[in-house]
Amino acid sequence: MEAGRPSVDSYVLDLISTPLDRNWFYEKSDGEVCLMPEGRKALSQTWRLWRAAVSPLAEMVADMLIPGAPTPLTARRNREAKGRPGIAPLPATPALQRLCRICGGSIARNRQYCPSCAPIFQREQVTAAARATGWEAAHTPKAQALRGQAQKRHHAARAQWEGLPGWLTEEVYRFGMSL
Ligand SMILES: [Zn+2]
Repeated sequence: MEAGRPSVDSYVLDLISTPLDRNWFYEKSDGEVCLMPEGRKALSQTWRLWRAAVSPLAEMVADMLIPGAPTPLTARRNREAKGRPGIAPLPATPALQRLCRICGGSIARNRQYCPSCAPIFQREQVTAAARATGWEAAHTPKAQALRGQAQKRHHAARAQWEGLPGWLTEEVYRFGMSL
């Protein structure tokens, strides 16, 4: 089985990168965590993967010991006799129940969040993007104070404009004396 360890490790790393059903596990009072029947049943469905990972190697060893040994595990010689590729197609990975990363509810296989939690995730993404783009920095007390000073300057300029002679209106300034 050691020859199939890379396949197992790859599967386990992929498996633990997603939330797992808490009903799969039970923690004893001493801290030991047990895999419950539901989890064992789900993981036992992966046996075809490990069989496919180990079988070619077992038959290769058998062929070294008994040249021309039959290949009942992979049916390699049968396929080659029929002109088909000697390597069997890999079995499909069993589909495990996918869970929402926030609430743990069941979700479709191509999703990471349930419909209720997807807006929460999107809001967090927008907040993170605001931080990354500097929006948050633009709303610090110092930035707001600088903005307030600029607004005071604008108000002062506007007040100065309103103090000009009556004939010099904004329309005259914009469109000239012909008005
Ligand atoms: Zn959810």
